[in-house]
Amino acid sequence: MKLSQIYSSDTRRISFEVFPPKPDIPIDTVFDTISGLKKLNPSYISVTYGAGGSSRGRTVEIASKIKNEYGLEAMAHLTCAGHTKADIDYILEDLKQKGIENILALRGDPPINQPDFDYNKNDFRYAVELIEYIKSKGDFSIAAAAYPEGHKDSKSITKDWCYLKEKVDAGVDVLITQLFFDNRIFYHFMEDITKLGIHCPVIPGIMPIFNSKQIKRIISLCGSSMPGELLIMLDKYGYSQEDLRKAGIDYAIRQIQDLLDHGVLGIHLEPMNRPALAEEIIKGLNYKFN
Ligand code: FAD
Repeated sequence: MKLSQIYSSDTRRISFEVFPPKPDIPIDTVFDTISGLKKLNPSYISVTYGAGGSSRGRTVEIASKIKNEYGLEAMAHLTCAGHTKADIDYILEDLKQKGIENILALRGDPPINQPDFDYNKNDFRYAVELIEYIKSKGDFSIAAAAYPEGHKDSKSITKDWCYLKEKVDAGVDVLITQLFFDNRIFYHFMEDITKLGIHCPVIPGIMPIFNSKQIKRIISLCGSSMPGELLIMLDKYGYSQEDLRKAGIDYAIRQIQDLLDHGVLGIHLEPMNRPALAEEIIKGLNYKFN
């Protein structure tokens, strides 16, 4: 089923993100994760794409298993930084053959070990160009990334919203957000982009905190801000993994419940390949996903 159908009614949806294991780790390890997530009744599971195509084969293989062996919907992330049109043609054909209908189309960060990577010399400079290209190549349902706090490289948040509108106008069915921890930021973002004429479903990407090293690394990569309550939590429980995990789950439950109470159409949960974490969060919600 396509994303456009998944979000076509008022029914709230839960979806998950998984990432492929590193190349030196057997791919099978991710299938335990998927079995655990399947029990939680997700509308789909998305599979991330390694920077510069480092997980290319694995992303497609995992998405294909989700769809064809687990009987769940899948969404493959696809980045274009470092890829030629011929590379993208190959991947799209592979996805098509495996019956994957949903793609999260992204520009991506510079390929590993190429910090001076020049996007202007790439076949695709921005995600919008990839979205247009995918549209011209087949009947895929396309999601794109949105950044409630602005993208980390963008110099102006107003321009960031205009570029977001360009992506939506190019044929995006759904926007999935960068992780954020302060819902007020998301609500302001929604007001701003609605005024700009963006009306497609916008699904918050939520990552629970379970380890202080993990969250500091992720925040340094994506630039999301930490509200005071979370900083205090890290200070208070950072010494004990178990206590921090409990506090992180509690925070995620409260954050997601508030988003659902404000009418979001779905939650895209990023439990870092830990199905038990996702299960505890979903059990704590005053909402049953169908
Ligand atoms: P774009 O939308 O192209 O934006 C990139 C920058 O260019 C922004 O600063 C924007 O303001 C600017 N811009 C956009 N259009 C224009 C224009 N026309 N003119 C001038 N400037 C413009 N990365 C991975 O490597 N693998 C993944 O699996 C992955 N999954 C992700 C999932 C989600 C939900 C999110 C939010 C991000 C994910 N990322 C992933 C990270 C993403 O690849 C990076 O944030 C990347 O730097 C930007 O990708 P984008 O698609 O948002 O780019």
